[in-house]
Amino acid sequence: MMLPLNDSCPVCGMQPEVEVVSVEHHKMYFYFCSEQCRETFIARPSLYVAKIGKQRDVILKRRTMYFSESLGAGVGDLLIPYLKDLMGVKEVTVEAEKIEISYDLLQVTERQIEKALEDVGVQLGGSWLERLRRGWVNDSEEIELDNLAEPPAPCCNRTLPKT
Ligand SMILES: [Zn+2]
Repeated sequence: MMLPLNDSCPVCGMQPEVEVVSVEHHKMYFYFCSEQCRETFIARPSLYVAKIGKQRDVILKRRTMYFSESLGAGVGDLLIPYLKDLMGVKEVTVEAEKIEISYDLLQVTERQIEKALEDVGVQLGGSWLERLRRGWVNDSEEIELDNLAEPPAPCCNRTLPKT
C-alpha cells in the first residue's frame, strides 16, 4: 500500500505506519502511527479531521493515580518508559504508592492509561473515594471530548452542518 507523502497521523502528527489499518471517513482515507491513534480517531473523527493541516490543540491534563499496593523496587523504572510509549503522555513520575502523569487529552485518556497499567498487572486502588474520583474523571473526560467534537446546539437538537 502506498502512503500519500504529506499525510501525517491526524491524531498526533507523527509519520504513519503501514501496518496500522487505514480508516475511511467521508470518502477520505486516514493513516495512523499506532493502533492507539486509530482508536482515538474512530471515537471522534470530527475532532481531528477539522485540524488537518492546522496547528493541533493540546488539552493538558495532570493526574495523580494511586496503586492498590506499593510497587516493588525497580518497577517504577520499567513503568516510566512503558507509559511514555503511549501517544500523548508527556511527563511521568512514579513513586511507591502513586503515579503522577501529564498527558494530552486529545491523544490519550485516563481510561486508556488505566488500561495500559492493568495490561502489565498494575492495579489502581485506594479508597472508595479514590475510585469514585477516577470514575468521575473518566466520565468528565469523555464529556469534554464529546462537547469538543459536537458542540451542543444552542436552541434545539438539530445538528449543525459541518464546515
Ligand atoms: Zn499518531
